[in-house]
Amino acid sequence: SIIFTLIIIIAYSSALSQLIRQRQISEIKTDFINNMTHEFKTPLATISLAVDALNNEKVIHDIEKIKYYSGMIKEENKRMNKQVEKILQAARVERQELKLILQEVDAHETIEHIAENVLLQIQQKQGSLTLDLAAHNFKLKADEVHFSNIIFNLIDNAIKYTNDAPTIKISTSTLGHFLAIKISDNGIGMSKETQSRIFEKFYRIGSEATRNTKGTGLGLYLCKKIAQNHNANISVTDNKPQGSKFVVTFNS
Ligand code: ADP
Repeated sequence: SIIFTLIIIIAYSSALSQLIRQRQISEIKTDFINNMTHEFKTPLATISLAVDALNNEKVIHDIEKIKYYSGMIKEENKRMNKQVEKILQAARVERQELKLILQEVDAHETIEHIAENVLLQIQQKQGSLTLDLAAHNFKLKADEVHFSNIIFNLIDNAIKYTNDAPTIKISTSTLGHFLAIKISDNGIGMSKETQSRIFEKFYRIGSEATRNTKGTGLGLYLCKKIAQNHNANISVTDNKPQGSKFVVTFNS
């Protein structure tokens, strides 16, 4: 009877833990659908307004305004494309179909190029971006597009998850055969427990700051998977006294 009771207890607790897991998955899926709906709703509404404006009698003969509104449509279109691409890429990663085109990449040049592209966005929030590219071995064997995506995603998050003016620092250093790229911010930061979860698929911190920011919870999951495909490592720590610091380590 003791064995029988034990079997029942084990079966019961395993069923219970499966139930909890299923519930968590269902919640994650619902959150994801809500986020995605929100992600698409805003650009669709903007495009619709821009098209209405283009059809306006006053606008139709004004070349500058036509340029302005069509530029807006293009930008929103790009944004939606990026989201779709993220989802497709996550599916490819899942099916292990991610193809890398390895070539020699100048990490410093790529970082400088991305920094130029995001500078305006940072300045609009009255923030600053500092580069300290001190590594002496900065040539990598990597897929340039995927490598850029990792760096871009980390900087984009540093901007997104900072309430006030973002102070973002990017530094590189050579550690033996490795190139370490550090991206730190003065943002909302995260607890130790959260640090171990943010690379999970669809994971988003349940704080108000995150809820108010658009996202899919796929960015860091993809960064981690792409880094793993390059035999690289990505981790997060506190950026004392405030914010987060991401470190990506590549073989150089
Ligand atoms: P998304 O930004 O689309 O939600 P990510 O996978 O890029 O998804 O990030 C997962 C979560 O990790 C975010 O929702 C956010 O809560 C947290 N996070 C990511 N980067 C930072 C950062 N630099 N500072 C604070 N929190 C962050």
